[in-house]
Amino acid sequence: MENVKISSVCGLCGGCKVAINSALDSLKSNGKATLFKEVVHNAAVNKMLESKGVKIKNDLSDLSSEDFVILRAHGETPATYKYLNEHNIKFKDCSCVNVQKIHECVANFSKTHTIILVGKYGKFSGKMHPEIEGTIGWCAHPPVLIEDEADLDKLKAIKRKKLYLIFQTTFNSDLADKLIEQISEIAEQNSCSLEINKSICLAQREINKSSRTLALNCDLMIVIGSNHSSNSVELYKALQPITKTIFFEDVSSWQSELKKHDVVLNKNIKIGITAGASVMKEELEILANQIRAEINKL
Ligand code: SF4
Repeated sequence: MENVKISSVCGLCGGCKVAINSALDSLKSNGKATLFKEVVHNAAVNKMLESKGVKIKNDLSDLSSEDFVILRAHGETPATYKYLNEHNIKFKDCSCVNVQKIHECVANFSKTHTIILVGKYGKFSGKMHPEIEGTIGWCAHPPVLIEDEADLDKLKAIKRKKLYLIFQTTFNSDLADKLIEQISEIAEQNSCSLEINKSICLAQREINKSSRTLALNCDLMIVIGSNHSSNSVELYKALQPITKTIFFEDVSSWQSELKKHDVVLNKNIKIGITAGASVMKEELEILANQIRAEINKL
């Protein structure tokens, strides 16, 4: 293996690309584009869009009929669509199809079942992931929110005998499997029926798989991403047990990051580079070339 290798599967996922391209297309055809909240948790992508003239607005009340709004991939609550329609604000819905399917499922099943929604509801970060926020909005009754095994105690209070288990698209697949096992046992003990929808995104699973394979042959893995990006954080956690792994957002700070983690480059070092579904592959290529150039000087 060469010194520095980028994971064979990485880069922006289909859902994020649709939202970004829609914003750029709207700039061309309408002369304007306003993203309702950041399209991905990635400063470089958001800066690129703003530099081209895309506005980013974070509150519904900041939007007006002057805007052409792009709704990002994470999905919105019904209240967002209501507001846009009531205020005659034109918009393009770029909610990812995978997230839309989850909305349909919870809207239907919540009429008859208790929804168990597994994802980053803010237990550790204090901030609910926007995808969870959007999905809750489509439930006819409040779902039971689970983020880790300790939350399973909440299931004791469930009254309905029909349960429907569903996941945030970027949730950790291994933890999801553990939770499925435990929730199935609890359902059986309480004579509840349980429908399981392991709605974890394929793009996410593929990135994890190829990054893990790469990590097996590397002395160091570098994961690029934001602390707010669920899929990047999960990827970092998945690689840590395999090899030394470091995680940072700003590609240009790579030298200080290596120093901070006591990584010294040498002619034989094997470094793998990867990122979650919210990072452009171009960023990883820039980083890989800079590290290769530094190794070549040794
Ligand atoms: S990670 Fe998957 S579910 Fe999420 S936006 Fe991308 S393609 Fe859609």
